[in-house]
Amino acid sequence: CGIFAYMNHRVPRTRKEIFETLIKGLQRLEYRGYDSAGVAIDGNNHEVKERHIQLVKKRGKVKALDEELYKQDSMDLKVEFETHFGIAHTRWATHGVPSAVNSHPQRSDKGNEFVVIHNGIITNYKDLRKFLESKGYEFESETDTETIAKLIKYVFDNRETEDITFSTLVERVIQQLEGAFALVFKSVHYPGEAVATRRGSPLLIGVRSKYKLSTEQIPILYRTCTLENVENICKTRMKRLDSSACLHAVGDKAVEFFFASDASAIIEHTNRVIFLEDDDIAAVADGKLSIHRVKRSASDDPSRAIQTLQ
Ligand code: GLU
Repeated sequence: CGIFAYMNHRVPRTRKEIFETLIKGLQRLEYRGYDSAGVAIDGNNHEVKERHIQLVKKRGKVKALDEELYKQDSMDLKVEFETHFGIAHTRWATHGVPSAVNSHPQRSDKGNEFVVIHNGIITNYKDLRKFLESKGYEFESETDTETIAKLIKYVFDNRETEDITFSTLVERVIQQLEGAFALVFKSVHYPGEAVATRRGSPLLIGVRSKYKLSTEQIPILYRTCTLENVENICKTRMKRLDSSACLHAVGDKAVEFFFASDASAIIEHTNRVIFLEDDDIAAVADGKLSIHRVKRSASDDPSRAIQTLQ
């Protein structure tokens, strides 16, 4: 029921600071109601000595997740990350009982190659799940959300070019989805990158940088809002001219991004906020945020959607 994600790019943050930011973000969203919570952060896989994605999920309060996070973490809390992307979620169960395995982030596979957090309901998840199971993907939860995590891996595993972008994968995924969603993805295949999208459920992005932010590629799609006066939100809206935009910090590109389902989780960090609209895909790569609008696939019929997928 609540999404919060935080990327620090060329802004060194300790593991402890990252944990605190994520937990505080979730706490700001607690009033929305939830039954469980979880995070995905970078971890160490000691066996192969390589970074991987670590998931910590817990039924119950954010406080319980907070304790679990410190209990499970094997890394020194003083370790600094130049760039890091952490995602966090509070769940209000719609499909599947409240439990750790049904909590988000949901994952593509046991190796956590792709993880996703989701607010909303995927109405065609049964068909998608059946399709993915027929292709050999094994499900562990009862959620509608897990189909999204498996679907992105399916698209990745069947990609036609090696250099497919994270945002293209997400674009292909949402063209298959029916229902309502706000989604944030993280992947081991795209370290330091983030992709977020929405349809029907709210999602916004806060940007903080001490450097001047510049927009490339005018015309501009999005609206910048000042949160100082929430009543007047979007008064400072920029004119909408086209369907793609790009925003980045100039200088050494030190920049932080906050993704949330609600402005209350962002307001303490920045007053520069972009509200995503339906079918917008926002991607951060190398500290640069790009937003574009996706064309919906023609079909309302899930079986047809699956055919396009095959
Ligand atoms: N439908 C999803 C689930 O039950 C997401 C629920 C939510 O928005 O928290 O896992």
